[in-house]
Amino acid sequence: MERVVIIGSGPAGLTAAVYAARANLRPLVLAGGLYGGQLMLTTEVENYPGFPDGIMGPDLMMKFREQAERFGARILDVDATLVDFSSQPLVVAADDERHHAKTVIVATGASARWLGVPGEEHLRGRGVSTCATCDGAFFKERHITVVGGGDSAMEEALFLTRFGRRVTVIHRRDGLRASKIMAERAHAHSKIDFIWNTVVERVLGEERMTGLRLRNLRDDSLYDFDCDALFIAIGHTPNTQIFRGQLDLDEAGYILSPNGSLTNVEGVFVAGDVADLRYKQAVTAAGAGCKAAMDAERHLEAMEFAPPPLTHLA
Ligand code: NAP
Repeated sequence: MERVVIIGSGPAGLTAAVYAARANLRPLVLAGGLYGGQLMLTTEVENYPGFPDGIMGPDLMMKFREQAERFGARILDVDATLVDFSSQPLVVAADDERHHAKTVIVATGASARWLGVPGEEHLRGRGVSTCATCDGAFFKERHITVVGGGDSAMEEALFLTRFGRRVTVIHRRDGLRASKIMAERAHAHSKIDFIWNTVVERVLGEERMTGLRLRNLRDDSLYDFDCDALFIAIGHTPNTQIFRGQLDLDEAGYILSPNGSLTNVEGVFVAGDVADLRYKQAVTAAGAGCKAAMDAERHLEAMEFAPPPLTHLA
């Protein structure tokens, strides 16, 4: 019987692992086939406190992992494939093994949606990004594009005006989905312009991005557009498929946790982007991981000192 099973190994999961390990709970971390979460897809991280010269995303996650292991966390690079939270002990299955646990911390994160067009994957980190906060500063005085018409796209575009000399929003329709206030701010900004009814067909460039091939959906025309960066802001998908029917989720699939890290199931806690539509930062996820581990520890303590069920007293 495990005391703590942590599902996920981004900043939230591995911070939870550090705290749970230092509390002598010997957490088992199901890290996923590809550990480390979204930071494994970024280049330099400049906004994680403690690294004044910046640090590469994968290097930062390696440090998280080493720190968790140093205190006794056991990390398995396997995907959790099934959970059963209907009764105690909680069950998490991964790699044909079923783990029984008193507490589970869910930190499976969210995945940014990508366009899925040629060139996009090849030029990731070399002009193509899904995170303006992470990568915007690399494009000072450059011409930056943003794809999407929602609040995220407007937020990214407005943020990117701090760096770029021009920010062009490319949207597939002729109206924004974003809230009125965000749309108005973007429209009013002198550095932001819009290309409507247009989709990206291909990201151009070899060593780094040099432009986009665009398709105007009105007349079906194709043309190449010179620019230096593409920020894709077409939404995130929380990684909650295996929790459907087990945990309360909102309409978009994020885990509901109105009370800190607590979920609707006793003993199951949540941390990081899988429950966070708003901040989505490595440092906020790490903070949430700390809180979830402390909540799990308190829960275990309460379980230990709780009187046995009445049926066992006779
Ligand atoms: P969203 O509201 O779902 O918007 C996604 C946008 O991307 C839409 O404009 C959509 O186009 C476009 N899109 C989707 N798939 C596409 C594709 N394959 N190719 C081209 N365009 C595509 O997502 P979001 O902007 O990430 O926002 C998610 C939630 O977070 C929203 O509820 C939002 O209000 C909230 N949020 C709030 C703030 C804030 O208040 N500051 C900031 C960020 C997010 P269509 O419009 O044609 O569907």
